[in-house]
Amino acid sequence: MAFGIDALSFPNRKFKIFILFILGTILVVTWATVNRNRTVTLNEGRISQRVLDDLKKDLEKFNIEINEKIRPLDLRITNLENKDRKYPPVKYLAEKDRKRILITGGAGFVGSHLADALVMAGHEVTVVDNFFTGRKRNIEHWIGHENFDLLNHDVVEPLLLEVDQIYHLASPASPPNYMYNPIKTIKTNTIGTLNMLGLAKRVHARLLLASTSEVYGDPEKHPQREDYWGHVNPIGPRACYDEGKRVAETMCYAYAKQEHVEVRVARIFNTFGPRMHMNDGRVVSNFIMQALEGKPLTVYGSGKQTRSFQYISDLVNGLILLMNSNFSEPVNIGNPSEHTIMEFAEMIRDAVGGKTPILNLAKMEDDPQRRKPDITRAKVILGWEPQVSLNIGLNRTIEYFRRELDKSKKSKLVDL
Ligand code: NAD
Ligand code: UDP
Ligand code: UDP
Repeated sequence: MAFGIDALSFPNRKFKIFILFILGTILVVTWATVNRNRTVTLNEGRISQRVLDDLKKDLEKFNIEINEKIRPLDLRITNLENKDRKYPPVKYLAEKDRKRILITGGAGFVGSHLADALVMAGHEVTVVDNFFTGRKRNIEHWIGHENFDLLNHDVVEPLLLEVDQIYHLASPASPPNYMYNPIKTIKTNTIGTLNMLGLAKRVHARLLLASTSEVYGDPEKHPQREDYWGHVNPIGPRACYDEGKRVAETMCYAYAKQEHVEVRVARIFNTFGPRMHMNDGRVVSNFIMQALEGKPLTVYGSGKQTRSFQYISDLVNGLILLMNSNFSEPVNIGNPSEHTIMEFAEMIRDAVGGKTPILNLAKMEDDPQRRKPDITRAKVILGWEPQVSLNIGLNRTIEYFRRELDKSKKSKLVDL
């Protein structure tokens, strides 16, 4: 015992403290290393404490940096909401009356006006468009609104959404546009419609197809009633559109019969109004632009062929009434007031106030010679008929094109 005490007390006190200090340091370092390499379970994976600490540090640094960057953006959004962002007035609808509505082709001429009417009525609207002929500016006044969504999507590809109603408008509509890429026109009207019907089937939504008076082709019956089967050249230049829409109608009724999808088919006749594309080649935009720019009005063929023109707001009302009706057979939506294209050219020239000549150019192949809707069905079933006269509609449209022309002249000046 005495040896032990002596042996312990042999080294001097300073040396003992030194040994204890070394042992203590080894202990602390070992503990810290073990602890840092200790693995921590995060959900499914395992991660070392060291990696976790490093991650935390990086995250803190990142948070500080990102907050600095976001602050000015937050302020900008608040400012936009506060003063610069003024949305058109929107009605409040109770949850049970508010519908989730998809409009394919909603950035186009008809679709954008329909989106306006439905958002303003208090519904939640999703516009799907591939911007082939549509433009963001047609619907930009809704971007950021809580009841509005915009998806850049091609309906030829499948689409997964949850909606109550689908207005299926996606398709080029003007002859130069649909003839530009006939294969794409066929795909859009067939595969695109199939996809939208598949969507409608899955989510039990009602689908309204924007069909066309072109399903009657170059009609041999006048005026055209819905029970007329039409006179279409299946291999002519218009076939990609005419037959595409005819198949689209066929698919609607196949899904209605076999899968119990609720369908509505609107056979739309020539429609005009603001937001038609300046260069889309349709007769109204062509004549108005030509008259405003003092260029000759180009009449294709003799100008004796007829059309019946409806104003856009009448069409939008008709589409909404049809969608919400209980009627599933096709319904003509158009204005029966019929004019020759030559009369129409003179009317537009007079309304614009110019004295430009009218020029007869070559006739278009397979151009339908007479077109006028019989709207008895729409009147009886929907209580719908056009309200806006051709004169009033034309004046509003001319005003719109005048402003568009001024804007594009100004932007060209700025470019110079
Ligand atoms: P529009 O060209 O202005 O609009 C069509 C819209 O569909 C555009 O926004 C275009 O980008 C979009 N679109 C085209 N292909 C698409 C695709 N594959 N995927 C997603 N979006 C696509 O034409 P509009 O006059 O507004 O016509 C709308 C609908 O009404 C069309 O189905 C047309 O056939 C029908 N219609 C219009 C008229 C009329 O006189 N305006 C007459 C009869 C039928
Ligand atoms: N489809 C879609 N969205 C959906 C459901 C279906 O785009 O929510 C498409 C689907 O990709 C298919 C088409 O719609 O190509 C037809 O669908 P359906 O269920 O009728 O046919 P199936 O898938 O059985 O061929
Ligand atoms: N049209 C015309 N000049 C033009 C554009 C069209 O004479 O610059 C004629 C066209 O031949 C057709 C009618 O106007 O007879 C309507 O043409 P649009 O392309 O507007 O529509 P459609 O009813 O033929 O689809």
